[in-house]
Amino acid sequence: MDKHPLHNLAMSEALKSSCEFRLGAVVFKGRKHILAVGHNHRRTHPLAKCIREDESEANTTHAELDALIGCRWYDSVQGASIFVARLRADGSAGTARPCDQCQNILRETGIKRMYYTTGNGDEFAMEKL
Ligand SMILES: [Zn+2]
Repeated sequence: MDKHPLHNLAMSEALKSSCEFRLGAVVFKGRKHILAVGHNHRRTHPLAKCIREDESEANTTHAELDALIGCRWYDSVQGASIFVARLRADGSAGTARPCDQCQNILRETGIKRMYYTTGNGDEFAMEKL
C-alpha cells in the first residue's frame, strides 16, 4: 500500500513534539487540502485538561486536539478528515489510532474520517467517525 499523501507532513509535525510519544496530526478536506496541523505537547489546553484529568499523561494536549485548535473559524471542519502519525525514535511510523476522547471530540466537531499510521511500515488505516 502507498503511504498516505499527508504522511510526510504529519511525521514532520510529530518531530516538533517533546513528548515521549511523538504524534502529528493534519486536518484536511478532499484528498489533501490542508486546514491545520498539530502535534502533541505538554502545554495544556482547558479542554484537554478537562477530558483527560483521570489519566497519567493528564497534562498533554493530544495532536488531534492541537490540530483542531489550529483550524481557523472560517474553515469549517464539517465533513473534513484527519490523518494522525506517530514518529518512533528510529524515524519509522508507529501506531497512531486516536484515543476515545479524541474520537469523541473529532466526531462532535464534524470530522467524518480518521486516518492513522498502523505501525506496519508506512501503512495507514481509515475509520469512519
Ligand atoms: Zn487523544
